[in-house]
Amino acid sequence: MNRKPHVAVLPNLGLGHLIPQLEFAKRLVVHHGIHVSLLLITTNEPSPAQDQLLSSSHLPPDLHIVPLPPVEVDKKIINDGDVLVLTRLCVITDHSLRSLKSVLIALGKPNALVTDIFATQAFDVCKELLIPTYVYVTTSAAFSAFMLYLPKLDSDVNCEFIDLPEPIQVPGCSPIRTHDLLDQARNRKIDEYKWLLHHFSRLPLASGIFVNSWKDLEPVSIKSIKENPFFKQIPTPPIHPIGPIIKQEETLSVVDVECLKWLDKQPPDSVIFVTFGSGGTLSFEQQTELAWGLELSQQRFIWVVRKPTDSTGAGTFFNAGEANENDPKVYLPEGFLDRTQGVGFVVSSWAPQVTILGHHSTGGFLSHCGWNSVLESIVHGVPLVTWPLYAEQRMNSTMLVEDIGVAIKPKMEAGQQTIVGRKEIERVVRMVMEGEEGKVIRSRVKELKESATKALDSSGSSYESLSCVANYWKTNHN
Ligand code: UDP
Repeated sequence: MNRKPHVAVLPNLGLGHLIPQLEFAKRLVVHHGIHVSLLLITTNEPSPAQDQLLSSSHLPPDLHIVPLPPVEVDKKIINDGDVLVLTRLCVITDHSLRSLKSVLIALGKPNALVTDIFATQAFDVCKELLIPTYVYVTTSAAFSAFMLYLPKLDSDVNCEFIDLPEPIQVPGCSPIRTHDLLDQARNRKIDEYKWLLHHFSRLPLASGIFVNSWKDLEPVSIKSIKENPFFKQIPTPPIHPIGPIIKQEETLSVVDVECLKWLDKQPPDSVIFVTFGSGGTLSFEQQTELAWGLELSQQRFIWVVRKPTDSTGAGTFFNAGEANENDPKVYLPEGFLDRTQGVGFVVSSWAPQVTILGHHSTGGFLSHCGWNSVLESIVHGVPLVTWPLYAEQRMNSTMLVEDIGVAIKPKMEAGQQTIVGRKEIERVVRMVMEGEEGKVIRSRVKELKESATKALDSSGSSYESLSCVANYWKTNHN
């Protein structure tokens, strides 16, 4: 009989959730002697990117993947542009978790369950089975504070949050400008907002909140959640900053190897890597401006090009990483590939991001600011140009530029609400790669790289945070 404590980890759909939670599960097994079942939400639609991630990962012996029975999803829901991404995700999760109780019983009732924030139905099931339930937040401590504050904001404010005259003041944290609010909180009448509020309101039910961040990165937000009277009064469960937990391994395709060979030949810190997360897309017009901006900057680049869309920017979220009918030539300005040959390397749909960011030739990252991308960049000491698209990325972008000081943000041109022009792109790319401001943020990100390594080593703050909970599980399981 396995005498180790048994913990179930329940990530959500989407690589941005699965990647860090899989790494979290591995750390529990490898560093803390826990036996983990990773419960996978699945649907009848294949997910090649997810399958590839799991089949290529080296799973330690005490980490078991347990797929939940697949949810039959109507293809119409997946492809219906009117049903927004978060709603789709929450509806699928809701269906999937109907099997959670029987799965947990079949697993012999784990000693604890760690759930994704958008799967808080797990609280009810686990309460019935007397299983303590924790939440794993795949984003920042600042956003965790916002999550905890949202129910209060919702009850205090009558109008739309974006119409508020002042920034939103989460107690003890940096103010959030209303235009940085995530899309789901810009219209309180839509289903996406209702799901958001529903799940965030349930955070206080957790036995603890793991957050993928660390003390030196977000000292103010972490301190506030731990000490501010507002959060104490909720009451807020113990918060455990355990990051940065990032992807550790990547399998390389033939194209990836080719791309890395090209990177090997470039001078140190000379290449800017451009990609927009697992599913981000640009409009045709914006993609054209980006192409021109990169070309005008005369900097070396690797650019992951996807088929442009004019929808939400979260374009390929549900089929992330798939090489769709994507031939970059079709979507790029005429002659771009010829003119940038040798200076730039364009790949279609997906690139091995962590390997590229860890390469000594990479010196900048133009990113949509998904939290995993942010952490991967900081861990490898790479300064960013921020290009937020969806979810909480505008908040991340502002924090990186104004609070943490590791990024530059392009400005919209006067009168332009949505498009960043080629001249501005040229300016920020040059600035991060060779300008004075670039030097300042590069040196700051190198400091944080050191502090990330320290946080995770066996006497570091994040290691100790996780150790503390793991030891509690060890001494309290039967
Ligand atoms: N990613 C990658 N190659 C790409 C784009 C993304 O490997 O071309 C990975 C990236 O390393 C990160 C994840 O996909 O681990 C994206 O997560 P993030 O939180 O940054 O954004 P999301 O996709 O959730 O918006």
